[in-house]
Amino acid sequence: MPHHHISFSRFIATCAAIFMLAGCATTPVPDAPSGPAPDDRLNATLWMQQAVEYKAATETVYALASKRLDEALADRSWTAAPAEQGAGYENLPPAIILDADETVIDNSPFQAMMVTTGAGFSEDTWNDWARDEKAMAVPGALQFTQEAAAKGVTVFYVTNRSEVVDGATTRNLAALGFPMKAGEDTVLTKTDTSKKGVRRAMVTANYRVLLLIGDNFGDFVDDYKGTPTERQQVYDANAERWGREWLVLPNPSYGSWESSAFGDDYSLSPEEQRQMKLDQLKAWRPKGE
Ligand SMILES: [Mg+2]
Repeated sequence: MPHHHISFSRFIATCAAIFMLAGCATTPVPDAPSGPAPDDRLNATLWMQQAVEYKAATETVYALASKRLDEALADRSWTAAPAEQGAGYENLPPAIILDADETVIDNSPFQAMMVTTGAGFSEDTWNDWARDEKAMAVPGALQFTQEAAAKGVTVFYVTNRSEVVDGATTRNLAALGFPMKAGEDTVLTKTDTSKKGVRRAMVTANYRVLLLIGDNFGDFVDDYKGTPTERQQVYDANAERWGREWLVLPNPSYGSWESSAFGDDYSLSPEEQRQMKLDQLKAWRPKGE
């Protein structure tokens, strides 16, 4: 999850209130529209929560994952973690690494809470949501991970959820039916760094990693932060991996792609961040305008 979503809608609500106070003195003002202020996260949240197009997209990724799993099992030289995998990996037992949020579990009710209340992101509230253990499975994820476990593949979840919700996250995943390996810690939460390479290396020390599956660039590479141009270069450097051993779920709601658009500079105001995003749109104009 993002760490610094500050509420643009709260700013708009404040502006609207000031405008109405000023207007009341002279002219009648129509009733304020009911409900929360406009929120840029509305469409993404609605899409992820109820569009069959979203379900079809995640099911499509996991259907491909199933095919790739079989290819990877059959090819001992195959690894999805070339940067971390050491010599002799060909003979290690197989594992896969999946991210948790918006990869195997769906946190759209938390996003919907922010959209409907105008709240910004708060680590405390996010951890309260995690402790509620109410996240649902992303369509396709359960069937795929259970299939992998049945084929003898150990399933690891490498997540940037905090250590303080490690237990709640593990219980949430297990209650949904996600495979857990007895006697092994397969849920690796964030400790000192959000970069996942160190935790991937903990897995590659004992396993051949067949697939990485995630919704964020950082689920695959450690240099996932940077300008859009820098991110594109890292993407291109791994061109042959996408759709093969690296599989990506759609997440239009949040991620490092979004903060990249405002330089990961959380000291900027929400309106400054929003203006930077607008400035980067490649917009067509009709003739004559
Ligand atoms: Mg995620």
